[in-house]
Amino acid sequence: MDGIRKRLEHDLRLAVARLRQSAGAKALEELLGPTGEHWSYADEVDEIQANERREIGFATRELLVDRVNRLAAALERLNEGQYGTCVECGEEIAPARLRVLPEVETCVRCQDRLERMGRQLQPVEADAGDDE
Ligand SMILES: [Zn+2]
Repeated sequence: MDGIRKRLEHDLRLAVARLRQSAGAKALEELLGPTGEHWSYADEVDEIQANERREIGFATRELLVDRVNRLAAALERLNEGQYGTCVECGEEIAPARLRVLPEVETCVRCQDRLERMGRQLQPVEADAGDDE
């Protein structure tokens, strides 16, 4: 699990760095909040100036914010020993999936279901579910 933590922290740093480059510190504060816990990462990224100076559009920025939040959440779950468990159904998430997308918090099935629900913008509750 140690490799996962490094990977998550690395990805988080990169995402924050990109955000900072594209948005500037001011905007970053608006996006992540003035006391956001992600800020500890922002301090470390100055030297990652990278070759990524291309302009980043607003949509991409939102995706980055999303990614930062998800990576941070994943680290949190790692700390709590919940990492790798689907937050929807409680099943284990396939290791192969985690390797590709270390920040995911749902298994493929739940992800699929959630995305479909999101696309259709239906009221969430009425899922003819067989809850335990
Ligand atoms: Zn699931």
